[in-house]
Amino acid sequence: MWPYFPDLLDRAVPRYTSYPTAAEFAEGMAEEPYLRQLAAVDPRQPVSLYVHIPYCREICWYCGCNTGAAGRAGRLQAYLDALCAEADLVSAALPPGVEVARISFGGGSPNALSALQFIRLADHLMTRFRAFSPLFSLELDPRGLDSAWEHAIAGLGIARASLGVQTLAPHVQSAIGRHQPLEMIESAVELLRRAGVGSLGFDLMYGLPHQSGADLADTIDMALTLQPDRFSVFGYAHLPAAIPRQRRIQGDALPRSRERFEQAMLADRLLLEAGYVRVGFDHYAKPDDPLARAAGAGGLRRNFQGFTDDDCDVLIGLGASAISSFPDLLAQNEKNAGRYRMLVSDGRAPIRRGVLRGPEDQRRGRLIERILCDGTVSLPADLNAVIGPPLGVFLTRGLATREGDTIALTENGRPYARALAYLLDGHRAEGEGAFSKAV
Ligand code: SF4
Repeated sequence: MWPYFPDLLDRAVPRYTSYPTAAEFAEGMAEEPYLRQLAAVDPRQPVSLYVHIPYCREICWYCGCNTGAAGRAGRLQAYLDALCAEADLVSAALPPGVEVARISFGGGSPNALSALQFIRLADHLMTRFRAFSPLFSLELDPRGLDSAWEHAIAGLGIARASLGVQTLAPHVQSAIGRHQPLEMIESAVELLRRAGVGSLGFDLMYGLPHQSGADLADTIDMALTLQPDRFSVFGYAHLPAAIPRQRRIQGDALPRSRERFEQAMLADRLLLEAGYVRVGFDHYAKPDDPLARAAGAGGLRRNFQGFTDDDCDVLIGLGASAISSFPDLLAQNEKNAGRYRMLVSDGRAPIRRGVLRGPEDQRRGRLIERILCDGTVSLPADLNAVIGPPLGVFLTRGLATREGDTIALTENGRPYARALAYLLDGHRAEGEGAFSKAV
């Protein structure tokens, strides 16, 4: 049983998919720093690409992603043309010889595209970049998978995919505007396995409107019958002031803080009992999955897609709202798909906001990443002194231990990983309130 400390859990804290977080990005960043970073990439080190498709066939009410209804076919095609133009611009800005080791597609829903559009896009990326046999990964909406997609996935050799499952309780699905019966998920899993996807993840959620612990347990039981290789288990973040589509969700039907906490604990117990191992603070994987192996070997990383075994130091984001990450710079593309297209059609890198990462940001970012990925970190003496008093709360409550310079989360401290990381956040006075609760 994890102990419940609402003073730590009710605090709004970042998810730390980057440090500094997106709340610290300055608006109006010019394209020059980004282009300089691209030109300075070390050709001996491979890079990763992330490609954002900001469209979905149907919009779920809870969704906090940058996405909109796919609507007219012409609009999708215009976006794809812009993506290809951005890929041309970026590949030309890189030094010759830079290899692309991974290409991830996310959104939105990449399968808002037709399978043919997707193949053409992947083909364009592989031709423009040195991407001879990249590791592909793909986020998918089970509601839009058909045999054409099966052939596309098999043809491209896509090894990893994640499916948005969220909940299988019909009354909860109604409350979040996302209807997908178990049979639909079963068909999607069969299709993806036939297509050769070796590492398949399910995204689940707790803290949804009208969702009880029993609903969550039933969803996990049903999901386990399909034997995915990975699970991610996210708490729903209700931020209707910032995300207008969430206003359709009844705020008074949401589980309260203690219930959310118990739901997170329940999911943790059921997945461990089923033989999955913990990866970071909200992922679980079969012990032989690459993510679990990376976690076991100390090679787990955290980036904009969550926990990953991607060890590239440079991640280039393509598409509206995509974020690029370099050791010295985080840069985000224009979020609005229409404005993104206009910038690209003017021949410009569509950068709109970002932040330079100085040595102190890089140092703190590495420490925060280790706490979240490994649950332990060795702190330099100066930071030990800074976080000493607030850390005392974690130590006296048995949530963390300190031996010399090494701070480690205990079993009881697992749900408090983000709250502990927050102590190392040198920007935390700014941007508070823009984040979700720690659980
Ligand atoms: S399918 Fe996924 S990305 Fe699209 S609206 Fe639903 S949750 Fe958001």
